[in-house]
Amino acid sequence: PTRIHHLVDHNAAVRPDAPAIKDCDGRVYSWAEYAKLTEDAARLLADHGAAPGERVLIVGENCLALPVLINAASRIGAWAVPVNARMSAAEVARIAAHAQPVVTLFTSHISREAVNHAGDATPCPTSFGALHVVPGLPDPEPVDDSADTPAILLYTTGTTGDPKGVMLSHANLLFAAEASMTLRSLVPEDHVYGALPLTHVFGVASMMMAAACAGSMIELATRFNPAKLFEALRAGATVMPAVPQMHALLMAHAEELGEATLGAPRLRYVSSGAAPLDPSWKRKAEAFYGLPLQNGYGMTESTAGVTGTRNAIGDPDASVGPPLPGCEVRLDLTFGEDPDVGEVLTRGPHVMVGYFRNPTATAQTVQDGWLRTGDLGRIDPQGRLHIVGRSKELIIRGGFNVYPPEVEAALNDHPDVVQSAVIGRSRGGDEEVIAFVQPRAPGMVDAETLRSFAADRLAGYKRPSRIFVVDSLPAAATGKILKHQFAKHFADLLA
Ligand code: ATP
Ligand code: MG
Repeated sequence: PTRIHHLVDHNAAVRPDAPAIKDCDGRVYSWAEYAKLTEDAARLLADHGAAPGERVLIVGENCLALPVLINAASRIGAWAVPVNARMSAAEVARIAAHAQPVVTLFTSHISREAVNHAGDATPCPTSFGALHVVPGLPDPEPVDDSADTPAILLYTTGTTGDPKGVMLSHANLLFAAEASMTLRSLVPEDHVYGALPLTHVFGVASMMMAAACAGSMIELATRFNPAKLFEALRAGATVMPAVPQMHALLMAHAEELGEATLGAPRLRYVSSGAAPLDPSWKRKAEAFYGLPLQNGYGMTESTAGVTGTRNAIGDPDASVGPPLPGCEVRLDLTFGEDPDVGEVLTRGPHVMVGYFRNPTATAQTVQDGWLRTGDLGRIDPQGRLHIVGRSKELIIRGGFNVYPPEVEAALNDHPDVVQSAVIGRSRGGDEEVIAFVQPRAPGMVDAETLRSFAADRLAGYKRPSRIFVVDSLPAAATGKILKHQFAKHFADLLA
């Protein structure tokens, strides 16, 4: 295969009647039906002006239309730009202004309000669900149709700043799909539960395309819902990649039901990625699933997977694993105080084509093929990578390094805490450590209790000087916490 839709065509040829997609309404589509829908959708896109190199903006949540449109764009050489419908209208508008799509499609599963914001949307019934179509303008800039042709323009989560548009080529995505399939030993009989949004690199590359690479069925969940996930896993899903927050919320749900273990005999593989995984969550999750919880590390710019663990249950390994075959990893140790901690660099077929319309940022981020991740890590004697935090989020307090994930892990250890986020704020020439903590239910825990809890677990300089107990934390569609928005979101508390 040289184009991402070749994976779908291949399955349609070798296993036409096997299940490919279980849509969010429960309907199952075979590979032959799926391939046919992508052909219909390619015609629809072409009718709306899509051509090689043009962007096709797709606003939606997990449902049949997303994989169909992504593959349809590939058929005509256009770039799919999947954007999550949970974003605000202003955020979608910002992405649209940057991506300059020739056409924008809103899938049926999203709010009228978001569609209305986009202007003159024409309702368009199709065989894969109703769409609202908003015309744009063709881009006069010429396109380069090489092997590195982008297939997808994917915006980063926006944890540390505004989302950046990452161009991922067909080759990037096909490599990532195969690497992820191999890591998880996916087979056609697998039933992958698609809780991760297909608008994020982990969802689209290491979940959706890995499943297509293996010929496995994927069950699409529109929005993360712990009760539905609980049912789906008991009903027979075999593989569930997720972000740490999803595991935590699923376990909190099971606890409410009084269930200490999941009890899903067909489930064989669960993994966590996209954000730091607390060692205590990992322990709890393994007892809950009765399976090892594998951790994987990557970013949009690296087409998701860079490393991944292959642990046995109960392994105390807190690393994100060794590099995946074909991916190189090294550290730039010129950073900071700790002699064995440096910025993580990675090179290989997973490194993005570049940032769209931002050659300066691309040149700063990719040098001699090495992608600067902005993450700080260390490599242990077994060659496994440990992520200690992001360089942008490192707090330097009284000359000592404080890595927010370590402080968050200590707070998350408290049984009444669902999740927490730690940020630094400059104060009187130094930085203070501030924690925001979300309890399992409002009023379940107070700041004083957490203060002494943290004091038992953390060295003095790592202890938060302020702890706020809050109802919720600003989060992306994946569940990743958006620290970039804290200053504005919690302005009253921080004043
Ligand atoms: P932005 O780049 O817009 O600030 P973002 O970096 O969160 O947002 P993504 O590409 O979605 O956007 O996330 C990649 C980042 O997530 C990595 O750089 C790393 O900081 C973090 N990450 C991913 N996987 C793991 C993991 N297993 N453990 C710890 N951190 C992880
Ligand atoms: Mg990033």
